[in-house]
Amino acid sequence: MQQHTSPPAATRPEDRAAARVWDVARTVKDPEIPVLDIAEIGILRDALVAEDGTAQVIITPTYSGCPAMDAIRADVEHALREAGYERVEVTLTLTPAWTTDWMTQEGRRKLEEYGIAPPTGSSAMGMRRGPKRLALAVRCPRCGSIETNELSRFGSTSCKALYRCASCREPFDYFKVH
Ligand SMILES: [Zn+2]
Repeated sequence: MQQHTSPPAATRPEDRAAARVWDVARTVKDPEIPVLDIAEIGILRDALVAEDGTAQVIITPTYSGCPAMDAIRADVEHALREAGYERVEVTLTLTPAWTTDWMTQEGRRKLEEYGIAPPTGSSAMGMRRGPKRLALAVRCPRCGSIETNELSRFGSTSCKALYRCASCREPFDYFKVH
């Protein structure tokens, strides 16, 4: 089995000025999953301050065509202006593509608390034959059982699948590996 290594999750910059921009940007929540901020879900890729003082933030959309991206971009710009940055620039980059591997452990924990099963496994398997998801057991966020079945490939949004727990009988959303 060929192991593909996807680029690592982004981390808070060490440079103090850049780290401040990062901290302001990550006050923005994901509109679809408001318990997660954009760093926890892996949308926030980088933050820096240019020589002319422009606060620059780089974001990567999650699932392609995610309609929330315009809102996220506007929210980041707004947050930076509120924090006192006069020149702001939010850049959207599509490569490397976002993956659920970038979701932080804290993000996964919050997702489960919110009632959505976090992505299991890694997106980075079998790249030669195109993206292939490694299927692992999906754990019920309510009772913790792994006796769960997929009801529908698409749940309330395209990034989620609808599952039902065989133990507690409750349906729940599963955030698919991507
Ligand atoms: Zn259950």
